[in-house]
Amino acid sequence: MSRFPLSRRIQALPPYLFAELDRKKQEVRARGMDIIDLGVGDPDRPTPKFIVDRMKREAMVPANHQYPSYEGLPRFRDAAARWYKERFGVSLDPGNEVVALIGSKEGIAHFPLAFVNPGDAVLVPDPGYPVYHIATMFAGGTSCFMPLLRENRFLPELDRIPSRALSKAKILFLNYPNNPTSAIADRKFYRKALAFAEAHDLIVAHDVAYTEIYFDGVKPMSILELPGAKKRCIEFHSLSKTYNMTGWRIGFAVGNPELVAGLGKVKTNVDSGVFQAIQGAAIEALERGEEATDGIRKTYQERRDVLLPGLRALGLSPVTPAATFYVWIPVPKGYTSGSFCEHLLTKAGIVTTPGNGFGRSGEGYIRIALTKEKGRIREALERMKKVGF
Ligand SMILES: *Cc1c(COP(=O)(O)O)cnc(C)c1O
Repeated sequence: MSRFPLSRRIQALPPYLFAELDRKKQEVRARGMDIIDLGVGDPDRPTPKFIVDRMKREAMVPANHQYPSYEGLPRFRDAAARWYKERFGVSLDPGNEVVALIGSKEGIAHFPLAFVNPGDAVLVPDPGYPVYHIATMFAGGTSCFMPLLRENRFLPELDRIPSRALSKAKILFLNYPNNPTSAIADRKFYRKALAFAEAHDLIVAHDVAYTEIYFDGVKPMSILELPGAKKRCIEFHSLSKTYNMTGWRIGFAVGNPELVAGLGKVKTNVDSGVFQAIQGAAIEALERGEEATDGIRKTYQERRDVLLPGLRALGLSPVTPAATFYVWIPVPKGYTSGSFCEHLLTKAGIVTTPGNGFGRSGEGYIRIALTKEKGRIREALERMKKVGF
């Protein structure tokens, strides 16, 4: 019996499926094997220099050393609103429709606390970013998982959500471009989702961390582009993937003012905002980052175009990513997500992510992140060919 038993809330967390894999990774490394880590969803390239330079200047300003306001500097919220207008044609009032976040994960994790009561349900994509489900649990809610299947282009079948869950549901979480499946949603789907949310009086919480990591020039859209979407939608945006800024911890939420204010209520009570120097650097990124992001997209597209034909030549049938830096791959016959990852790790020294770590419907897939140079991706393909499966 532990002297300090963890709360039931923490004890109820889903098991950390990657623990066993982490242990095996250590083992393989201890054997002296060279490891190619294609597991982590973290850009390998540094933040563009002009953003780092702005950060240096901002760090010298004494006013930036004091507590920031939780909602973000007016000039940061202005920059986010202007960026949304330019990128999506969506008009936002920086006064009450934008709030700064300490990375979008922070906003997503806090959002259910503002709108979910114990006993409420939340509609959560499966496979999906684990935070939607865990934040729901922390708020005392119950997740109703929506399977994302290849035959449906990884879009949820909203009409098949059980009516019992639907009658208790408060929030519909969506995430396109999607981690881990790399799918994007089209206008038709967003229209359907919005009409569905209207019919069942749901909040739509859309995680748009990957809208700028797209391929072949096809730009993903914001659900706020739809007329009337601002009545019930909030979007969580992030600078992490767009500008290689994962370590900086900055993002923002935009949309319906009541939803933004509700999230703000949680935030005023648990955090004190984003370091103002980082907000200054983020303004620089939003205002002058397009060229840098072009380069980032090009890098991932080149890597994708090495990996995909290579995987197909090995007899695999990966999903062709429309966006994100992930490749979602059905495992070969005779394997599970876990056993295929283990095979690639222990035999070939390649780290991938088992699809079941993102939810039950992720079983039968692995995820590869395009966060290593082309040379390493080629090397991984050669090793896969050598060890076979
Ligand atoms: C990376 C990621 C985020 C963003 O994380 P930050 O907290 O902004 O760094 C959000 N959602 C998904 C699905 C992600 O993969």
